[in-house]
Amino acid sequence: MTNTPSNLSYLDPARAEPWASFIEQIDRVAPHLGSLSHWIETLKHPKRILVVDVPIVRDDGTIAHYEGYRVQHNLSRGPGKGGVRFHPGVSLNEVMALAGWMTIKNAALGLPFGGAKGGVRIDPRAFSRAELERITRRYTSEIGIVIGPDKDIPAPDVGTDQQTMAWMMDTYSVNIGHTASGVVTGKPIALGGSLGRQEATGRGVYIAARQAGIRTAVPIDGARVVVQGFGNVGGIAARIFRENGAKVIALQDAEATVANPAGIDIPAALTHAAAHGSLSGFFGAEPISVDDFWQLECEYLVPAALEGQLSPQRARCLRARIIVEGANGPTTPAADDILRERNILVIPDVLANAGGVTVSYFEWVQDFSSFFWSEEEINARLESIMINAFDAIWQTAQERQVSIRTAAFIIACQRVLAAREQRGLYP
Ligand code: NAD
Repeated sequence: MTNTPSNLSYLDPARAEPWASFIEQIDRVAPHLGSLSHWIETLKHPKRILVVDVPIVRDDGTIAHYEGYRVQHNLSRGPGKGGVRFHPGVSLNEVMALAGWMTIKNAALGLPFGGAKGGVRIDPRAFSRAELERITRRYTSEIGIVIGPDKDIPAPDVGTDQQTMAWMMDTYSVNIGHTASGVVTGKPIALGGSLGRQEATGRGVYIAARQAGIRTAVPIDGARVVVQGFGNVGGIAARIFRENGAKVIALQDAEATVANPAGIDIPAALTHAAAHGSLSGFFGAEPISVDDFWQLECEYLVPAALEGQLSPQRARCLRARIIVEGANGPTTPAADDILRERNILVIPDVLANAGGVTVSYFEWVQDFSSFFWSEEEINARLESIMINAFDAIWQTAQERQVSIRTAAFIIACQRVLAAREQRGLYP
């Protein structure tokens, strides 16, 4: 028997989203790759999958076990790079897809990394800080055999933050006997973190939107913006949109959906969310229904929560001009087709949310050289990498008459598969 998708359950596209979405995206790009399509199967088979048991002693003295993952999807162009998610919905299928999208994103931006992702299936809000520290440390120790500054470099994602990265860096360093700050990015500044990293993903979402607005004559200044997810990505993107003259008219997080047609005071909403853990009870906007949220008329819609949020049904009803994907995988392939038919421009995740991994790359470079850059330098380099990638992808989309997503996948897959071909298969 060969290792085809049909006999490896976790590779079966029929079994679960969002890996199925990733496979479909790869299938769509294959006809555009010429002779490199010979190597396309490599992208449908993650290179390495590690499933770990994470046992901890809870604060009440009982012992609990949680499931954790680290998937290295493709390492042809460099060490693995991708976040770690703590969320009750984490599954192997989800982590595989997220790792795949990291392969594409890193290659589309020209960063010298492969794609990886990790996660633990927990609701971080259900644990004390001490319990979260024990979960993080045990998880890090378990995946320690596959991570490292030149092997695979985790970073924050949903449910994790710079404190999580500090614990990961410390655990890995203790286990190997010396400080290895380059093993994770998104660390606190005091531990070798980079200025600008925390807001880099949101800033990149804004840059991608602004460039799309220039191409389509939809200026940010005065635009109405709707943002789903009000965490690291959505919260910061909303703030930067507003600072640049946009009106954020609606927000949604896991607990609340609110709108204010006059424009939401984002700093006030951020302060509320930081104090209460969600937008619930925020006085600066009115609660609205989830259905109404997805049908609000706006220039920019920024899904920045989880994957699969833009279903075909929502794609048929929404009234946005441009969708800028802050989240990874928010639009299903079927919804993508509907949006294209409806002439709604989608700036895909692998481009729009790449600001975070770009500044993670800067952090990794700074850690290696022990020489740290100013925030102005970081933001200027981020701008330049994002704009160059945007322009190249836009041009490919025009030349080949394909969507921006397919164009980004074409550029990325060409780079990954050319590296695969040049390295050759061992043995
Ligand atoms: P976060 O944990 O900081 O915030 C997530 C937000 O989404 C929270 O406001 C939460 O309440 C909300 N949310 C969760 N479930 C929801 C639901 N069902 N409906 C509406 N809102 C919901 O996470 P983050 O780091 O901002 O990540 C958000 C997305 O961006 C994820 O898809 C992540 O993979 C992607 N991303 C993050 C980074 C990064 O640097 N943090 C980089 C690239 C992509």
